[in-house]
Amino acid sequence: MNPIYLDHAASMPVHPDVVAAMVPYLTEHFGNPSSIHGFGRKVRLAIEDARETVARALGTDPARIVFTSGGTEADNLALFGPAFAHREKGKTHLVTTQIEHHAVLEACQHLERLGFSVTYLPVDRTGRVDPDDVARAIRPETVLVSVMYGNNEVGTLQPIAEIGRICRERGVYFHTDAVQAFGVEPIDVATLSVDLLTVSAHKIGGPKGVGALYVAREVVMYPHLFGGNQERKRRAGTENVPGIIGFAKAVEIAMAEREKRRERYRALRRLMLSVWEARGIDHVVNGHPEAFLPHVLNVSFPGVDTETMLMNLDLAGIAASSGSACTSGSLERSHVLKAMNLPPEVVDSAVRFSFGPGNTEEDVRAAAERVADIVERLRGRK
Ligand SMILES: *Cc1c(COP(=O)(O)O)cnc(C)c1O
Repeated sequence: MNPIYLDHAASMPVHPDVVAAMVPYLTEHFGNPSSIHGFGRKVRLAIEDARETVARALGTDPARIVFTSGGTEADNLALFGPAFAHREKGKTHLVTTQIEHHAVLEACQHLERLGFSVTYLPVDRTGRVDPDDVARAIRPETVLVSVMYGNNEVGTLQPIAEIGRICRERGVYFHTDAVQAFGVEPIDVATLSVDLLTVSAHKIGGPKGVGALYVAREVVMYPHLFGGNQERKRRAGTENVPGIIGFAKAVEIAMAEREKRRERYRALRRLMLSVWEARGIDHVVNGHPEAFLPHVLNVSFPGVDTETMLMNLDLAGIAASSGSACTSGSLERSHVLKAMNLPPEVVDSAVRFSFGPGNTEEDVRAAAERVADIVERLRGRK
């Protein structure tokens, strides 16, 4: 059976053009971008071109882009940077949500251990945060609000523009983790009232280990790596040159194909659901019915436990995910589904399928049929 990869929200295959763009920076263009000689200058120019590409895709200027080692580091920097810089002014409170990626949640827990206080806002059953809750949670000592753009487990999109407006009005920084949204949603930092925004290369067809943080001009932040002047002293260390070059290439491709990809993912999603409907497979779609990331489909098959399902899918050649963090091979219950207050039989049977540019209709139909076979088999056994 040919394997079918439906876990693009975890990582995407690297586009061949991305690999091709990176190779010269692993071979002949090896100079250190901080060097003043020609070897270095050549690489510096390439990095600044890449920065321009990433900036343009987000609707901003190159000076506002900080390259990082990925989404996790960008999220950490977005929280620690402003928090540490404003601590002396008595700004010791942050607001986030219960459904953030662990890169935000665990950074917040670290800040709590350092004496900051954090409010973790609830969500409704579709996974949406209420902007009024954000407004109510902001206090005089609040430095920053962090609400993700689109959720990686269930795909729910947040009312980012509205939350951004509230934060602007109240004079607090607004960070959004846009790792999953970038490449499928049109993102323009200027119209969103966002001060900090996280993106990652390997979720859009670029290499792993590189990402970026958009930082608005107004943001005062403390660096979190020391030892050099790179990234305007906000993130020291010799740049991941091949990674950055590959990232920019992936951004170029993703931007050119964005609308096409959105349409395609929506069609693949409908196709999958239609197979289960036609076969009378009882299922529940998790997330928001309209405001969702097109490449993420989180679905529960009540009575069929997630782990059993994933093992059977793997045997059937289908790569999917629980959507939640895997700790040494054993599944933890999803903090996102729990926060959504879904019934236990829905939480315990949720599976995330996520589409990518390489998925064909045939593959997705075949996958849906195999899923249906497994569900029928497992349900029949009881
Ligand atoms: C994958 C992911 C991250 C982490 O990005 P890495 O580049 O893998 O460190 C952060 N946030 C979200 C929403 C993600 O999906």
